Amino acid sequence: MVSLDKIAHLAAECRFDSSGPAQGAALMGIDGAGVDAEKLRSLGEGTRHDVCASTYSPREKPLPGICHAFTQDGRCVSLFKTLYTNHCTHQCSYCINAIGCSRKTKAFSYTPEELARITHSLYRSNYIEGLFLSSGAGRDEDRITEKMIETARLLREKFAFKGYIHLKVLPGSSQAHIQEAALLADRLSINLEAASSTHMNEICSTKDYDNDILQRQRYIQQILKEGGRSPSVLPAGQTTQLIVGAAGESDEEIFQRVIHEYREIGVKRAYYSAFSPQPGTPLEKKAAQPLWREHRLYQMDWLYRIYRFRTEEISHAFNEDGFLSNADPKMAIAREFLDRPVDPNTATLPELLRVPGIGPKSARRIMAIRKSRPIGSKADLSAMGIAVKRAAPFLKINGWRDTTLEMWQP
Ligand code: SF4
Repeated sequence: MVSLDKIAHLAAECRFDSSGPAQGAALMGIDGAGVDAEKLRSLGEGTRHDVCASTYSPREKPLPGICHAFTQDGRCVSLFKTLYTNHCTHQCSYCINAIGCSRKTKAFSYTPEELARITHSLYRSNYIEGLFLSSGAGRDEDRITEKMIETARLLREKFAFKGYIHLKVLPGSSQAHIQEAALLADRLSINLEAASSTHMNEICSTKDYDNDILQRQRYIQQILKEGGRSPSVLPAGQTTQLIVGAAGESDEEIFQRVIHEYREIGVKRAYYSAFSPQPGTPLEKKAAQPLWREHRLYQMDWLYRIYRFRTEEISHAFNEDGFLSNADPKMAIAREFLDRPVDPNTATLPELLRVPGIGPKSARRIMAIRKSRPIGSKADLSAMGIAVKRAAPFLKINGWRDTTLEMWQP
């Protein structure tokens, strides 16, 4: 991973460009002055809660700078991840860029030309394959959106940039701006942040959940519909992100919202970011949410999207207060829904996928292998990469079963 420090160092020394320090400085900075390393660092660190990795990743500290994301074809790409500006007039009570934050950092902004050049230089030097551009709203979200669009336009038209561009849509951006952005970006996203308008009101008094966020999602959805799935219209679709635990919402409330997003809005992915308090914000004394909560939500997301678990199955993973425990939700669902051991020699794909320890790849491997020979033992399964220790209690192989589950004891 290339850290922000390294990018700042490269920027300060103008080593992004192979055209030499003097020319490099002119290319990199404003009026030939070079890029301000403090700005680069501040605007990079300002994105620490914007998630672009597609799964939970354990972390001691957020890692701003270059992040990794997955494209629609499953390829892992490195992205330059930054804010356009850290100036914002919204009052999100968890955010260090919010107007009410008592320890606000110095305000910085790029110019479109400057940011396009940095991105292009990083791209040309093979440090990145794309740009993940978010921003504070400045004094006016439409003005900042115009600058973000201009950055993307310069990249595409002036620098013939063929890399990936993910643009964050600012809450309340106009429909016309969203349409323009969609012509330049691979992916658009707008952060939901909260599970409902009631929860949003708990953490932000300046955003209208239905109008500023949900309505903008529908604009993107409409663009995708009108594009008729053309590969040139937002090929990576739209995504969203929620902060976990800032507004006191339960996991079930979060997940109900996410299911709605997948079904009704057509988002490609939802991302989860465990709340962590920031000094100087109104929520600085609120307890940080454990990272395992984020991790378990990603597992639930996987069960819903990839394993195609039904909502009534999913709902069994939550306790009566609507929270997940720090345990594999698939195991809890299997205990509730599997009414007899599964025979890998006869089970359907959905039945195999409901066994803990068996994922989509191993389920397909079982189905392919059993066409030529029966699966006769745990060792057979182990050789196929199945987590036999987890799977065995739920299996029956050629009449033999190994269950220690009380529910299936004779
Ligand atoms: S809109 Fe809210 S979360 Fe985004 S930068 Fe502004 S204050 Fe921070």
